[in-house]
Amino acid sequence: MPLFVDNSPPGQCIFCKLVAGEIPAARVYEDALTLAFMDIGQVNPGHVLVATKRHAATVLDLSPEEAAAVMHTAQRVARAAEQAFAPDGLMLAQFNGRAAGQTVFHYHMHVVPRHDDDGLGLSWRRQDPGAEALQGYAARLREALAAPPAGTA
Ligand code: 5GP
Ligand code: ZN
Repeated sequence: MPLFVDNSPPGQCIFCKLVAGEIPAARVYEDALTLAFMDIGQVNPGHVLVATKRHAATVLDLSPEEAAAVMHTAQRVARAAEQAFAPDGLMLAQFNGRAAGQTVFHYHMHVVPRHDDDGLGLSWRRQDPGAEALQGYAARLREALAAPPAGTA
């Protein structure tokens, strides 16, 4: 469980204040729907956050236009990071909900330059449940996609 969690209401969270210019940030880029700025924690030099300008807590709360705009801005920032920091790789990461590691509940995507020896790790526990289980999971998702909740089609 993360130690710091900001789940303030819309308009009052850290990133709403940052978007509004009420708290300082090292800004990188903006368009109509997104703002890119340096993450205060910098897991590697060049670590940027791409946030929606509108307060939306998680990916589930984005409009299709915001979702597209975030990826567009993240790709632009990734290309800039490629030039400016010459990383061995680039990681795009995005956490939704406490269990997934989200600490600021205003939607954002991390763009992180990665290096062969940077020591950052994500633990992915493989379970290899087998083809039958995969077909079962896919069927559950197909069923959910065929009957989306109201307003999300
Ligand atoms: P997440 O919610 O994806 O786990 O992470 C939130 C990120 O926001 C962290 O990487 C943290 O360093 C960053 N962060 C938290 N507060 C501020 C702030 O006031 N300014 C900036 N620039 N970054 C912040
Ligand atoms: Zn906010």
